[in-house]
Amino acid sequence: MKPTKLFLRLLFCTFMLNVFFMSAQQNNDGCGTPEPTQPDSDGVYSYSTNPAEFDNCELIVFNVRFWGVNYPNGVNDFLNRANDVLQGIANLNILYNQFGIYFKYRGFEEFDSPVVEGDPTGYYVLETISQYFDMVDWAIDNGYNDENALNVYAYGWSSFGGGIADAIISTNCGVGSAGLLTHLLPHEIGHNLGLIHTNSTSEHTTRDSGDICFNAITAGDRVVDTNAHRGFDANNTNTNCEYVGQETDNCFEMNTPYDIFPEDIINTMKSSDNGLGCIEKYLTMGQGIRMRNTIDQGHFNAVLTDVSSLYEPYAGEYFYSSTQGNPVNFKPLFQPGFDYKFFECSCDCPLPSDYNNTSFYYNNNAVLTISKYETDFSIITHPNHTAIFIDLISPCIANGQLTRRCYDNYNHKPGWGSVTKFNDGVLNGNVTVTPKDSLGINNPTLIDELNPGLYKIEKTYLDGATDQDIIFKEN
Ligand SMILES: [Zn+2]
Repeated sequence: MKPTKLFLRLLFCTFMLNVFFMSAQQNNDGCGTPEPTQPDSDGVYSYSTNPAEFDNCELIVFNVRFWGVNYPNGVNDFLNRANDVLQGIANLNILYNQFGIYFKYRGFEEFDSPVVEGDPTGYYVLETISQYFDMVDWAIDNGYNDENALNVYAYGWSSFGGGIADAIISTNCGVGSAGLLTHLLPHEIGHNLGLIHTNSTSEHTTRDSGDICFNAITAGDRVVDTNAHRGFDANNTNTNCEYVGQETDNCFEMNTPYDIFPEDIINTMKSSDNGLGCIEKYLTMGQGIRMRNTIDQGHFNAVLTDVSSLYEPYAGEYFYSSTQGNPVNFKPLFQPGFDYKFFECSCDCPLPSDYNNTSFYYNNNAVLTISKYETDFSIITHPNHTAIFIDLISPCIANGQLTRRCYDNYNHKPGWGSVTKFNDGVLNGNVTVTPKDSLGINNPTLIDELNPGLYKIEKTYLDGATDQDIIFKEN
C-alpha cells in the first residue's frame, strides 16, 4: 500500500503545479512595472489635490497605437482583439477625461513574435520581465512601434504579471491581451504618465503636513489623497470593498492604524487585486494632477495630438460623389468612449467642414445620440447632414461651440422623387403631382422635357434626406 500512496501524492503535486502554472499565465493581474528608484525632481510636482489646478481649458490628447503579439506561427488566442482595443480606448477615456486627458485611437496591427532561442513559444508567452523588454526592443527594430504614439503591446500570457509599463514616465507598455478589457490597461497607462503604485510599506497614515510622520509626498505613490496602505487581499478587505484589516504604520513605532476607504481599494493604481471582485476603476484628483504635472514637463510632446483629431474617424471613409459608387458602402467610424450627439446642420459641405470653421448652421435636433458606454461600435458613425458634438469637459476649448464639422452632402443620387406642376402658374393648391422612380428622378433631361410653367422638383435620398427645388420654366 505504501508505494501506491507515494505515487498518488506525487501525481497530486504535479497536478497542483500545473494548476498554479496555468493560473499564473492566464489570470495573473499583477504588474511588472519597475518601482521608481529616484525621488521626484525638484519643482515638477505641486502635490495638490485641488481640481482648479489644471482647469485652464487646455485638453491633452494622446495618440495611442495598439500592437497585437501573435505566436511565432501567426496564431493567437484572442480572436476579438481588434474589438477589444477599441473597448480599451473607451475605458481609458471614460476614466481619464475628468482630468482633461484624452486618448485618440491610432490603430491596431498584429505581428508574429520571433522564436526565442530555447523558448519555442516565442515572445507571445512572456516568462520574465527581461523577455518583455527584449520583445519591445525587437518590435521597435522591426517597425512595430510608433514614435508619435503611446504604444500598447497586447501579448499572450505572462508569468511575471498581467501588465507592465517600460518605466514610470514612458511611452510603451504591455498588457496580456485579456487586460485590454480590465483595469490593467488604464493602470499601465497611469505608469506611463507618471503614477506610482499606491501600496507602500513606508508611507505613513497622517495627511497633516505639519506632523513629523508626514511623508505622503515622498513615500509610496507621492500623492496625498490616496491613503497609505500596504496592499489588499482577501484577509484585510471584504466583498463590499471595505477595509477590515488591523494593520498600522510604523512611524516611531506608534502603531497608527491606517485610514483606508473603499476608494483606496478600487484605486486603479494599486499593484494587485484583492481577489474579491472589487473592480479598480478610480483615480483621485491628486493622481490626475500628478499626471498633468508630468505631462507639463514635455516628456510626451512627440506623442500628443490636437483636440480636432477626436472629430476625425478612425476608420471608414466619407462619401463624396456618386463616381465613387454606392453611398451605402461609405461609413466613417468614430472611436467609442465619448458621449456624442450628431446635430442637424446645413452648409455646402460634401465633405465635413474644417474643425476650425464654425460658420455653418446647426440646430439642437440630434439625429444620432451615442453614449460613452455604447458597445456596438458599428453604429458610431457620422450621419449625412449632421455636425459632431462631443461632450468634452472644457467648454472654452471650442470658443463656446462644441459642435463641429458639418457634413452636408447632396452628391449622391436620389432614390426617388416627384415633379409637382402648379397649374395656375402660382404657388397654390391647384397642382398635378407626377411621382418619379429612380430612373425618372435621375434622368439628366428631366427639366429639359418639362413644358413651360412653374414646378416643384422633390428628390428623396436613400438616407432619408430630401431636397426641393422650385423651377420656373420659360417659353
Ligand atoms: Zn503597476
